[in-house]
Amino acid sequence: MATIVTIGEALVEMMRTRRDVPLGEPGEWAGPFPSGAPAIAASAAARLGASVAFIGTVGADAFGDCLIRRLMADGIDCSGLRRLEGYLTGIAFVAYRSDGSRQFIFHLPHSAAAQVEAAQIPPHILEGARYAHIMGSSLSVSEAMREACYALAREVHARGGVVSLDPNLRPELLSVERIREVCQPILDIATIVFPSGEELATLSGEREPEAGAQALLRRGVRIVALKKGERGSTLFTQEGTIDVPPYRVTEVDPTGAGDCFDAAFLVGLAEGWSLERAGRFANAVGALATTRLGPMEGTFRREEVLAFMAEQGRPFE
Ligand code: ATP
Ligand code: MG
Repeated sequence: MATIVTIGEALVEMMRTRRDVPLGEPGEWAGPFPSGAPAIAASAAARLGASVAFIGTVGADAFGDCLIRRLMADGIDCSGLRRLEGYLTGIAFVAYRSDGSRQFIFHLPHSAAAQVEAAQIPPHILEGARYAHIMGSSLSVSEAMREACYALAREVHARGGVVSLDPNLRPELLSVERIREVCQPILDIATIVFPSGEELATLSGEREPEAGAQALLRRGVRIVALKKGERGSTLFTQEGTIDVPPYRVTEVDPTGAGDCFDAAFLVGLAEGWSLERAGRFANAVGALATTRLGPMEGTFRREEVLAFMAEQGRPFE
């Protein structure tokens, strides 16, 4: 039985090998790297030892094979992952600038990834799920995928499970106003929200993180886990606020760190750990995720994360 279920876009990522080469100019690429926020979170949670299911759609092409191979190798329940004739697997092209910002081209709304639908969610996955993790990016890809995300979240919530939301705003996919709207039905039933600072401001309409988090707590969210990149994270609850200091790494590629953080935090909660302990573990997993080139290349096994935490003089206890 899968404890943690993610749903949404599975895609491959093609990355510029050098910084500051615009997407529209001839140049070198590396890839395909398996990617897609919900698929990255699934991989991270599975490698950390959780039982995980992923629901998504890929094309009947070599990029789809690349994704299926990777997710199966991680031990993920792929019974809700469809391989579809007539559509290409989703693709993201990404270029990094020296200032750390990224430029994307997405082949998504007309790709296989966008064809995810509620009917493909296997009943055994709904019955077993304790956590349904939803990404704002998935709510932005297509109507069918959005409805599938809502269906999964509602079913898991109705059975007493936990719904979590990572707003994961991708203005390339949908306007920020519209993303805020499509997040509302998930926010209505979400126990946990995993925003970055900017995403928290967008969702709550409040500029200051503290005020933004309080606004979400007032509407029924129980935990706001604010992700702050190299500054670590802050956990807001009605009982109080916990600042969780970062682990130190040399960042190679930040893509996927947020998704890995989400996964690790949910794994911690599923294990019954305290919020503070889950937060430290998630910070370590997020930091490690930035040390490898490629969105899903920085997902690690639990033993490797614990060894890293000990090396940094802040062991997991
Ligand atoms: P994205 O959506 O681009 O994956 P995000 O904004 O959701 O990113 P980040 O804040 O970038 O998420 O990263 C998630 C967590 O990973 C942070 O809260 C932090 O704990 C850890 N982390 C990320 N980058 C670093 C870094 N350079 N050094 C140390 N820890 C980091
Ligand atoms: Mg994010």
